[in-house]
Amino acid sequence: ITSYDLTQQTLAALKETDQKVNGFLALNEEKALATAKAIDEKGIDPDNILAGIPIAIKDNIMTKDLKTTAASKILENFVPVYDATVMQKLYDKDLVVVGKTNMDEFAMGGSTENSAFKTTKNPWNLTKVPGGSSGGSAAVVSAGMVPVALGSDTGGSIRQPASFTGIVGMKPTYGRVSRWGLIAFGSSLDEIGPMTRSVKDNAAVLNVIAGHDVHDGTTVDQPVPDFTAGIDQGVAGLKIGLPKEYLGEGVQAEVKDAILAAADKFRELGATVEEVSLPHSQYGVAAYYIISSSEASSNLQRFDGIRYGVRTQNAKNLDDVYVNSRTEGFGPEVKRRIMLGMYSLSAGYYDAYFKKAAQVRTLMKQDFENVFKDYDLIMGPVAPTTAYGIGEDVTDPLTMYAGDVLSVPVNMAGLPGLSLPAGFAKGLPIGMQLIGQPFAETTIYKAGYAFE
Ligand code: GLN
Repeated sequence: ITSYDLTQQTLAALKETDQKVNGFLALNEEKALATAKAIDEKGIDPDNILAGIPIAIKDNIMTKDLKTTAASKILENFVPVYDATVMQKLYDKDLVVVGKTNMDEFAMGGSTENSAFKTTKNPWNLTKVPGGSSGGSAAVVSAGMVPVALGSDTGGSIRQPASFTGIVGMKPTYGRVSRWGLIAFGSSLDEIGPMTRSVKDNAAVLNVIAGHDVHDGTTVDQPVPDFTAGIDQGVAGLKIGLPKEYLGEGVQAEVKDAILAAADKFRELGATVEEVSLPHSQYGVAAYYIISSSEASSNLQRFDGIRYGVRTQNAKNLDDVYVNSRTEGFGPEVKRRIMLGMYSLSAGYYDAYFKKAAQVRTLMKQDFENVFKDYDLIMGPVAPTTAYGIGEDVTDPLTMYAGDVLSVPVNMAGLPGLSLPAGFAKGLPIGMQLIGQPFAETTIYKAGYAFE
């Protein structure tokens, strides 16, 4: 099959399926077909297994000449003048971008219901959320519309939607993938990663997007291994820790059972699985929401109606431009986070909130370091529950935040975490999380591949 035919068939099929799922915010039809044609004319490199493969991109990743909204009204008309580093890397390897996917506004949320534009449905059950914030990317991969999508993960936004939709999602080590051109949320936590249907596909895409970038000073200047090499080596001799806090209160019985069954499977495959403890994980949600909102309140100052996006029609002076553009442009969850972040950074409250949260973050990091003295990997659920109903949690932000308890520690410590399918409950997928030491994505992929 030519790349052109593949792209054309992919677009035709996904347009049909997406009428039900609502995963895409925008399609990139003309350019995708032109790119595919150019790839065919140039000739497909037989060593490049990703040549001509269609990919979908979360709408907070900058795509030159293709609208990038972060699912916010304030960026409704925003067309970037440059590509994110990851995009350039995908183009260099001849992947074909078919469209931009729905998400929670500015990646704030866990269900994609905070999008200003549409509600994405879970392909397994159209009355359920696909998770979030990368819910559009998860849904379009899960429904078979594309084999690969990119997401971003600040506190679980790749792993939790992967878990809710039964796909594979990797949040790489902080510094592994360039954030240049990712619309910043919590800069010390954000990471871009691949969402796919299989572990090996995932590793192949990370091969493409990983690496040092002069435009992002937090990327690490370290050689990138081939993440697919030796992926089939198995887990014999591997030591895996299962934190008792990850199977505690609030974790749905079916989720717990699936993870215990997964632990048994790892034992059968020759690994050791033992109970460990991450004693500070109970403070993770509180500390995460202070740190991520503080960083967001600073990052989102640039959206003022002047430089990017939509400017209010309703202004008599400069102050009106700022205030009314932001009042009209941001949704309720984004405003809530900006207020929380500004408050915890303000002079009178900094010590009580931001500083405390930063200290808790250090303790959480040490928890992981202690376990990794004796173990190669940590396993557990990605989320306490399977996908919930559309409309069920969105009116109650604290319930929604509580669902992040098992995913945020990984971002707080900058570690790599993989979500992969580990069972079903009432027709809905259950996700397992494999957490590794910094830059140990290869170990995680090996274990994921052996389990799959
Ligand atoms: N659900 C979390 C939040 O709302 C995580 C979001 C993310 O990882 N982008 O902040």
